[in-house]
Parts: sequence; C-alpha cells; structure tokens
Amino acid sequence: MDFKDYYINTEKPVISFEIFPPKSVNGVEKLKETLHELAGLSPDFITVTYGAMGSTREKTIEIASYIKNTLKLETACHLTCVGSSKEEIKEIVENIVENGIKNIVALRGDPPNGNKNFVPHENGLSHANELVEHIREFEKQSDKITNSLGIAIAGYPEKHIEATSFDEDIKYLKKKVDAGANVIITQLFFDNKYYFDFVKRVRNEGIDIPIVPGLMPILSAKQIQKITTMCGTSIPEELTNKLNNASDNNYIAEEIGISQCIKQARELIDNNVPGIHFYVLNRASNIKRILQSL
Ligand code: FAD
Repeated sequence: MDFKDYYINTEKPVISFEIFPPKSVNGVEKLKETLHELAGLSPDFITVTYGAMGSTREKTIEIASYIKNTLKLETACHLTCVGSSKEEIKEIVENIVENGIKNIVALRGDPPNGNKNFVPHENGLSHANELVEHIREFEKQSDKITNSLGIAIAGYPEKHIEATSFDEDIKYLKKKVDAGANVIITQLFFDNKYYFDFVKRVRNEGIDIPIVPGLMPILSAKQIQKITTMCGTSIPEELTNKLNNASDNNYIAEEIGISQCIKQARELIDNNVPGIHFYVLNRASNIKRILQSL
C-alpha cells in the first residue's frame, strides 16, 4: 500500500511510527531488535528519517528495506534536498523503488551543522515543493518506476520556524500539495488546539488531503527542551512545570510524556483524525503502553 490508499475509508485511525537510523553498526543491530517489537504493535507503516547532509542515506534505505522485506511491514523513506544534486536525488529515488519501497516523506531538510540559513546544493533543490515536483517528473521518465509513489510532506501547526508569517507558510504548503503530495504529516505539538486551528487554516486554503498529527512521547526534560527549541514547538506551561519538577529524573519525565501523549491521542481520535504519526525515537516500551491504553 502507499500513502494514497492509507487514509481512504479507514474505520480506525492509521497508526504510523517514525524511527531514525543510528550512527553505529551496533546501533543498527539494536534498532533491528526494537523494530521487531514495534512490528508486534501492528502499525500501518514505519517511516525512516534521513540525516543531515545525506549522512544516513544508505542506512535509511537499508533499514526501510529491512522493515519492508524482512518484517513485511509497509514503510517510507524520508528524503531531503540537503547536500544532493537533482541527479543524485533521482538515483536515491530509484534505489528506494528497487528495494520495493513505495513511499517517500519529501522534505527540504534543516541547514546542516547548526547553520542558520539553508544553502541548496549548486545543482540541487531549494524547497520541498521542488523536491515533490522533481520526484513526480522523474516517475514519468524512469523505466524502473511503474507505479506512482506515495508522497508525504511536512506541515507545521505552530508554523515553520523560518516562516515570516503563518499565511506565508500555508501558501508554501499549498505549493507542496499542488506539486503532488498525498498526505501532510505534522511537526510534533503538545497542545491539540494548534493542530485543530492548523487544519482549519489549511482547509480554508483549499487543501483537502489528509493531515496526520505527529506526537512525540517525551523521554527527558533536557531532550524535549532541545528538540522543541530546534523545531519551534511550544510546551504548555502546565507541562513545563511538571517537567521542571521532574528535573533530571528521566523515569518521571517519561511517565509525564506517556500521560501527555495518551491525553493528546485520545482527544485527537475523538475528533476523527485520519491517523497518528508517533515519533517513537527508536523505543518500543513507551509507545507500547500508549497504544495499549488507547
Ligand atoms: P519547506 O516546505 O521547503 O519549508 C521550509 C521553509 O521555507 C518554511 O519556512 C516555508 O514557509 C518556506 N518555503 C517553503 N517553500 C518555499 C518556496 N517555494 N519559496 C520560498 N519559501 C518557501 N529533517 C531531516 O533532516 N530529515 C528528516 O528525515 C526529517 N523528517 C521530518 C518529518 C516530519 C514529519 C517533519 C514535520 C519534519 C521533518 N524534518 C526532517 C525536518 C524538516 O526537514 C525541517 O523542518 C526543515 O526545516 C523544513 O523542511 P520542509 O520540508 O518543511 O521545507
């Protein structure tokens, strides 16, 4: 199945997980064990992120291929514009397809090495809408691609950190959709109000593809502070106070994160979201508890 088919006529929300390729060989082996546990939770698909500067390119495809061909679960490779020419992107897309993978999460990527501004490859692409267009054009040319791929793009309930206004950000989101994306997966958020408002804004712009909320179980106060600073997600005061009280006690922080995730997921499901994309951070235990309680 691909992204085009997933969210149509589903009786229950589509559950997906997102994992990232570890740096070391040992890490990859450990992740494979975790993947067996994650597969046991029967998600509809698992996506694999793409590291800065294409640093995890081979590992992204290797792990996605493991999910697809060994675990026999549907998967998606994330792909960014960072550090690749248009020709290299075509090779990567063919490689993805050759591994039997039918879905891509198409992104611009963050500026590498903590740089503030995104600098495209000299023969590359500047924005995710160009990447979606490039993939759609290439699909028509390549003999190896017989079926159109499922393409997901990123959406930002609190607007993208670089965008000068929400309206501008939604205008560019529309460009990605018009270029041929099938589904929007959102950045993580801790207050569902942002998601519900975002959906209204997006629908007002005439965008009608599924908008899948992204939720992340917190692992520690420090970790979530770092991630939210990077991606511009706000943490509600009540949650901040709880995490401050947890201080360096990661066990307590994780428990807070599990309760928060369950609370958000319940309300989202009650409001008939098409699915939930969990940023599982390569851990099975927390997501297992979250899904069990749903
Ligand atoms: P874009 O859609 O290109 O937007 C980037 C900024 O430029 C926005 O401010 C937007 O308003 C503006 N903009 C968009 N189009 C145009 C245009 N045509 N002209 C002018 N301005 C424009 N990062 C990784 O490195 N690897 C991953 O695997 C990864 N996975 C992710 C998965 C999800 C679900 C999400 C939400 C994010 C992910 N990211 C990943 C992070 C993402 O790469 C960053 O948020 C990045 O800064 C923006 O990517 P984008 O695809 O949204 O870019």
